[in-house]
Amino acid sequence: MKIIVAKTAGFCMGVRRAVEMVFDAPGKYTPPIYTYGPLIHNPQVLELCAEKGIRILDSIPDRANGTVLIRAHGVPPDIKVRLEAAGLTVVDTTCPRVIKVQTIIRKQAQKGYEVIILGDEDHPEVIGLLGYAGPRGQVVDSLESLASLPVYDKAIIVAQTTQNTRLFEQVQRWVEGNRPHYRLFNTICDSTEKRQSEVRELAPQVDAVVVVGGKQSGNTRRLAEIASFYGKTAFHVETAADLNVDALAGCQIIGITAGASTPSWIIKQVFRAVEKLPMARPGGIGGRWLTFQRVLLLTNIYVAFGAGCLAFAASQLQGGRLMAEHVLAAMSYVLSMHILNHLTGRAEDRYNSPDRERFYSANKRVLAAVALAAGGLGLLSAYRMGWLAFAVLLVMSALGLAYNIPLVPAGIWPGLGWRRLRDIPGSKTFLIAVAWAVVTSLLPLLGGSRPSVWAVMASFGWTAGLVFSRTLFFDILDMQGDRIVGKETLAIVLGEKKSFSLIYSVLAITVFGLAAGGLIGLLPPLAYGLTGCSLLLAAVAWRHQRRCEPAGLKLEFGVESLFVLAGAMGLIFCFLAGNC
Ligand code: SF4
Repeated sequence: MKIIVAKTAGFCMGVRRAVEMVFDAPGKYTPPIYTYGPLIHNPQVLELCAEKGIRILDSIPDRANGTVLIRAHGVPPDIKVRLEAAGLTVVDTTCPRVIKVQTIIRKQAQKGYEVIILGDEDHPEVIGLLGYAGPRGQVVDSLESLASLPVYDKAIIVAQTTQNTRLFEQVQRWVEGNRPHYRLFNTICDSTEKRQSEVRELAPQVDAVVVVGGKQSGNTRRLAEIASFYGKTAFHVETAADLNVDALAGCQIIGITAGASTPSWIIKQVFRAVEKLPMARPGGIGGRWLTFQRVLLLTNIYVAFGAGCLAFAASQLQGGRLMAEHVLAAMSYVLSMHILNHLTGRAEDRYNSPDRERFYSANKRVLAAVALAAGGLGLLSAYRMGWLAFAVLLVMSALGLAYNIPLVPAGIWPGLGWRRLRDIPGSKTFLIAVAWAVVTSLLPLLGGSRPSVWAVMASFGWTAGLVFSRTLFFDILDMQGDRIVGKETLAIVLGEKKSFSLIYSVLAITVFGLAAGGLIGLLPPLAYGLTGCSLLLAAVAWRHQRRCEPAGLKLEFGVESLFVLAGAMGLIFCFLAGNC
């Protein structure tokens, strides 16, 4: 089964900006925090707002305190004035593109033009726009209602930003033939245009289209209408739970798109649910293979195996003899730390990976026991390598355990926002990279092996760079969910664009370092092969940046497989060089 995800599925720029401003508001502005009307047409996001104590203000009180955020759709100008007069601090998250339409209307109305708005009269954006037109405003939702209006001497026509582009084209032709003196402004947002034209392209290629978004969301409903227009079954779902598994099971190619108010974590959940459909088919090899991948990822067995592979590749890069204890220590340490991290990070997984959250909640005792046993095995393996390796792994295990524990007692330093290591913005990405690099590249040296210092440095830099880039890439995929739970990952601190640039830069340095080390003879020829892992990760990141596909099981498994690939190259080199 193939899944095609529309490139523009999910939050548009304006909604993303507004949602981020609202979720960042608690702690930043004077409480209580309100949104003026529901933030967006998405019940799941509204539930989250309620959980965070963000309330909806439906009417303007006589007196109030706190902060009110104007949502992306905007409001009529008098509403802002009345909110401020009531004593509230107003934070305006109106989308800049909506502000542009408001400005056009205000200027043209002041010049004496009648203002005709093509849109849904009950839509909050249209209500806000009407406020800027004053008594000169009219709303029409069809060609017929436009034709029924009186003929004005001076009039402009603007469109609701999420209006159907085809309807606007029809209006344009009608105006040219019937009211050529009217001024027409195409104010449909290009994000809406792209989203709709993508569905037009997508529909003929697939057997069915899944449209994700709130049932009340007009732009989401329009996407479903467009897909149906092309004769394709369109399933409008709010969450993965609404999927009609039986109806979709027979489809070979499924398209997924989402409205502008659909968060990425919900698209990801729907994507993963569609991806799992083959698992429901009895006896299918594809389904079994996916189930196998899912179990390996959920239990962290695969990531631990990847750490072992990376340790093996690093040992070959350093030209040292193979130490089984080294590989075992790396695998056990990574398994233990990753399980512990997921056990303590279930709040984030609730949005980013509900599958994993359920798995860890249901099996927490067993998994805690496995994590402790793996930690013990890692320490034992390190001890067999030497006391120095043991001491370093012991410190690293203690640091890993302390990562989620408050190190500064509450109240001792009131102004300090960081009580745990994990509270330091972006710390996770750096610490994971360093920890992996120590266990995969440094342990042999600490364990008494005598590789060249340059080879150890190169190997340390390569493993740290690769793991850093992989972790930052996963951080990018989880940005929206992390932001909701208030986690400040490096991707959130830097923003998506800079995070991708950092990934490419770090990977470029690893490629350059390995190739240069090989050329000047500091590293064995294996170094050239290992550049492939960095290049492949860069290609995956680049493809994702261009297509913005959700993080499905295959993507996650593919990225983790890069470490296994490194191990396979190490093994081939080991045999060719006569080390194995
Ligand atoms: S659809 Fe366009 S105009 Fe509307 S909120 Fe999104 S970016 Fe802004």
